[in-house]
Parts: sequence; structure tokens; C-alpha cells
Amino acid sequence: MKQIAIISGKGGTGKTTITAALAGLIKNKVVVDCDVDAADLHLILNPKIQEKHDFVASKVASINLEKCKKCGKCREVCRFDAISKGPKIDPVSCEGCGVCFRVCPNGAIDFEEKISGQYFVSDTRFGPLVHAKLGIAEENSGRLVSLIRKKAREISSDYILIDGSPGIGCPVIASITGADLVLVVTEPTLSGLHDLERVIQLTGHFKIKTVVCVNKYDINMENTEKIESFCKSKSIEVISRLPYDKLVNKAMINEKTVIEYDQEALISREISKMWSVIQ
Ligand code: SF4
Ligand code: SF4
Repeated sequence: MKQIAIISGKGGTGKTTITAALAGLIKNKVVVDCDVDAADLHLILNPKIQEKHDFVASKVASINLEKCKKCGKCREVCRFDAISKGPKIDPVSCEGCGVCFRVCPNGAIDFEEKISGQYFVSDTRFGPLVHAKLGIAEENSGRLVSLIRKKAREISSDYILIDGSPGIGCPVIASITGADLVLVVTEPTLSGLHDLERVIQLTGHFKIKTVVCVNKYDINMENTEKIESFCKSKSIEVISRLPYDKLVNKAMINEKTVIEYDQEALISREISKMWSVIQ
């Protein structure tokens, strides 16, 4: 089972467009959408949910005022200032440490599991998709990413295709850990180059083989060349240059991959060529 993670330094570089197109090309694979904070692969793959599971990231405390004797001990011990006078617990500030639950002399504090999101196993026209939805303002996206990647490994396949989270934080680390190959999608802007430098530092730290695709390379040739020379200096191969093409948006509006929309278009042929390099 080969695990290929597609990531970018930030959102909006075309990472999901490329992942969806590759999903249509790769046989016998599971696709995992690890962009759990802003998942959008489902917009193209149109999944039919087969399994739905709750994601329990932590526990949260709440006060039963009928039992509370207002001694104030819980407020004294909460390091996160989550308990105000009343007493009342702010569920957003509560970090789930459980200290108040343990010190309350009257058993007035409940400490219950908090559902922070859901994850799904779905059918798509390209095979199974494991994806998730994290609740608004919920944290622990790294844990959720690890969980859905584990779920994907339970499904028998030759490849796992991972649409990684953008950036370089905890969810990205969870997206690439244990991957056999990372494909970084970048765009020819100075911020794109800056983000690429950070991402390559990260994959280098984890010693994961990394290749680069410059998307919309033709919107700024000077920056494309800067990206390519940076990659050369790091011995990172640029395996593809994809042209800017309005077809990408048209395909997305029609819930299709670019290859499904027009397999003869240059961008479609370049993505197919890219797959022949990395498979
Ligand atoms: S420690 Fe228990 S009894 Fe005391 S104020 Fe807090 S909830 Fe009420
Ligand atoms: S569980 Fe911890 S963080 Fe939450 S209210 Fe109690 S002491 Fe504060």
C-alpha cells in the first residue's frame, strides 16, 4: 500500500483540483480528505455516505446547579478561567482537564464526552472516500486527521491518496506522517515560494520523499523560475508545470474533475503525465 499525500503551503493553490483528477486516474485506491477544517473534495467527488461516526476529541465539564453549594472551589482550581461566577462553565474555554470535576465536594460537576465533529466512509464514482467535518471553532484537527487516515488504512487498496491540510501545522504533520511520497502543489507568487520553503523544510524534517508541481506556472514565469531554482538547490524534483486554465472552474461547477471535463485539454494531459511519473 503506497501512501501519497498532496499538500500546499496554503489553501487555494489547486491542491484539491489535482487530488480529484488523480483520484480518477489511480486504480484500486482510497482517497482521504484530510483538509478537515475546510473540506471541499466532496464537492467534486459527490460522495454517498455509507458510514458515519462521531469524533470525540475531549471531555467538557458542566455544572448541575441543583447539587452545587456555591463553595467556589471549582473556580479556584480552573487554570483556564473557564468558570465564571454563578458558577457557570464556558464550554468553549473549558480545556477538559477534569480538575474541577475531581475537586467538587458535592459531585455537582458532570464531565462528559464532547462530540467535536463527524467522520465518514463514503462511496464515490472513483471508489471509497474517507472524509470528516470538524465542528465550528473546534480544535484537535490533527487528531481527527490521524483518525481518518487510520480508517483509510483499514480498507484494502494499493494506494491511499491523501488530500492534506494546508499550512505547516499539526493537521499537516498528521497528513504526511508515514506517507511514501509528498506532492507539494505551489503557485508562482512570492508568497507561494515562501510557503513552499516552509513546507519543504517540514517534509525534509520528516525525511519524506518530496516532489513539486507548479500550478498556473504561466501566470508569472519569473516566479516559476525562482521556484524551480529553489527546488534544484534542495535537490527536489519539479515533476510538473500546469498551465492556468479556466476549465478548472468550469469542471468544478459541473462537479467533475478536469480530466472528466476535457481529457484532451493540456492541463488534463499534464496531470496524467504527472501520475505516470509518481506512480
Ligand atoms: S466546586 Fe462544586 S459545589 Fe463548589 S461551586 Fe463548584 S460546582 Fe458548586
Ligand atoms: S474541566 Fe478543567 S478547564 Fe474545564 S472547567 Fe473544569 S477545571 Fe476548567
